[in-house]
Amino acid sequence: MSEFQRPRGTRDFSPEEMQKRRYVENALMTTARNFGFSEVMTPTFENTDLFIARSGPEIVDEMYEFEDKGGRRIALRPEITASVIRYYVNELQTRPKPLKLYYMGNCFRYERPQSGRYREFFQFGAEIVGSPSLSSDAEVLALASSCLRGIGLKNVKMRVGHLGILKGVFEEMKLDEIVQTDIRRLVDKRDFEELGTLAAESDISDENMDRLVDLVSLKGGAEAIGKAKEVLGRADPSLNYLSRLLERLALYGVGDAEIDLGVARGLDYYSGMVFEIDAPSLGAEKQVCGGGSYTLSEVFGGEEVFSTGFAFGFDRLMLAMENDGVDIPSAKLETYVIPVSDTARAKCILIVSELRNAGVSADIDLMGRKMGKALAYADSLNFRTAIIVGENELEDEKATVRDMASGEQESVPFAELARYFCTEL
Ligand code: AMP
Repeated sequence: MSEFQRPRGTRDFSPEEMQKRRYVENALMTTARNFGFSEVMTPTFENTDLFIARSGPEIVDEMYEFEDKGGRRIALRPEITASVIRYYVNELQTRPKPLKLYYMGNCFRYERPQSGRYREFFQFGAEIVGSPSLSSDAEVLALASSCLRGIGLKNVKMRVGHLGILKGVFEEMKLDEIVQTDIRRLVDKRDFEELGTLAAESDISDENMDRLVDLVSLKGGAEAIGKAKEVLGRADPSLNYLSRLLERLALYGVGDAEIDLGVARGLDYYSGMVFEIDAPSLGAEKQVCGGGSYTLSEVFGGEEVFSTGFAFGFDRLMLAMENDGVDIPSAKLETYVIPVSDTARAKCILIVSELRNAGVSADIDLMGRKMGKALAYADSLNFRTAIIVGENELEDEKATVRDMASGEQESVPFAELARYFCTEL
């Protein structure tokens, strides 16, 4: 074992893992592109101020944050939405709206590592910038749902809420900003006991606090909206909005979204619809996606513009797929070329080059291994076939093509090899 270990909370990914990760990443990106989204990429690090402007100074404790050699405060990005909106404000504001953008990238948070929680992890996310809420909220939720369908992850639960409902209650109760923020944080953590303590300290009546807890505990289909009206004792525009959103989602074929008025998204910058997606098989760290509608561009010096977006925790998607036994096809390499003698090597290089140029995945023995060992190596790397060339093959101008699974062999003239593999593909 080397004395050099990777930093805590980081991972190395094996060739097999990377093949699976790229397969899933590709499926997510294909779905986003089918929905009319385009990819963007922003820097891995930003000026610390960007994240402070977005989330407040407490965020610094949760980030990899340092001074660079020029004396600038720099942070490795803890998420990517802030960067995308900064980029929008600086360079994309004049583009036709709405802008539909997606991204995939690594993020860094200084957290206590555990299963499903890392210091370097990956997010796949999408944002619609510039169109008012209902239509883009529905489109973004439909995209998130289709992404999950596209990767075959079925054991998931999408929970949708609206921060306007809590806001209405806060206004009725005439709560100051600090208490509001505390309540949102505790609702997000479902810490109802602590909420009781806070109520006592903030002179919130038992009756009001019970009502609030009843409200944020409401979950279910459209009937949850009716119950929320009863608890509130009035109609509420945000509840009506959620009803209409469910109707829109049904048109998209998304019938499994559940209303959950307890979705509060912690201290994030969301202002309207908010949602989370859980994969129950993950246990404690089961949230695979978080999102909602927000305005952020004005914080970065742009004009206020409505946006809606989400971020999937890519690593948690991979874990959930593994737990649920979702099949990810392994990549088969096509053929491994084995020169049986030194004199055959030159011909083998010509063959492997021709196949590669024709777009066939082809490799060649570099170790001068004997045939048995070379075949075992090809087998271990999952090649579908091997091409064997020795003295007899050179003489006949034909290669022996071996099916690695069945062991069956056939002779294919050198001149026809590329065509043989291209029609086989
Ligand atoms: P957030 O920006 O906190 O809403 O995170 C979006 C998603 O990223 C979450 O739902 C998680 O799936 C994932 N995520 C957040 N933090 C981590 C972490 N430390 N390690 C792995 N995944 C994470």
